Amino acid sequence: MPRPRSKRRIYGPPRFSHFKPVGVPRRLLGAVTLTVDEYEAIRLADYEGLEQQPASERMGISRSTFSRLVETARRKLAESVVEGKELRIEGGAVDLEHTLRRCRDCGDEQLQRAAETAGDREAAASCDACGSDNVEDLAHAVLGPGYGRRHTHGRRQGRS
Ligand SMILES: [Zn+2]
Repeated sequence: MPRPRSKRRIYGPPRFSHFKPVGVPRRLLGAVTLTVDEYEAIRLADYEGLEQQPASERMGISRSTFSRLVETARRKLAESVVEGKELRIEGGAVDLEHTLRRCRDCGDEQLQRAAETAGDREAAASCDACGSDNVEDLAHAVLGPGYGRRHTHGRRQGRS
């Protein structure tokens, strides 16, 4: 019997989730999509320079699964750079520990526990730095509006 695929633990959403070559109209470009777990694997292995064992433990997956994720992600990044494809980061079976909220007016970024954001999205809607309501939830940008839904039923975790 196949084991159910467990969600990959992700520290936070990517700060930027859409890249494209300069000067080429979008309709002429192919596209590549990196899932959020593939992004996290690249971040841990190639940006932070972690060995695969500790990196896989951070994501709560086996070393071989981590290794496959990194390989897939590198191939997609290479394809995007070499062929000049639009690159998006979105989707994936992931469990986000934090989200990032970015103010579109002043650029201020706040890291928040994902559970707090999901439960208290309205109250937390304005920017702490400038008071603007024009704040973007970067987890929402890559995972859609339902990303925090699991926190609203079942047991809430964390401190209260
Ligand atoms: Zn602001």
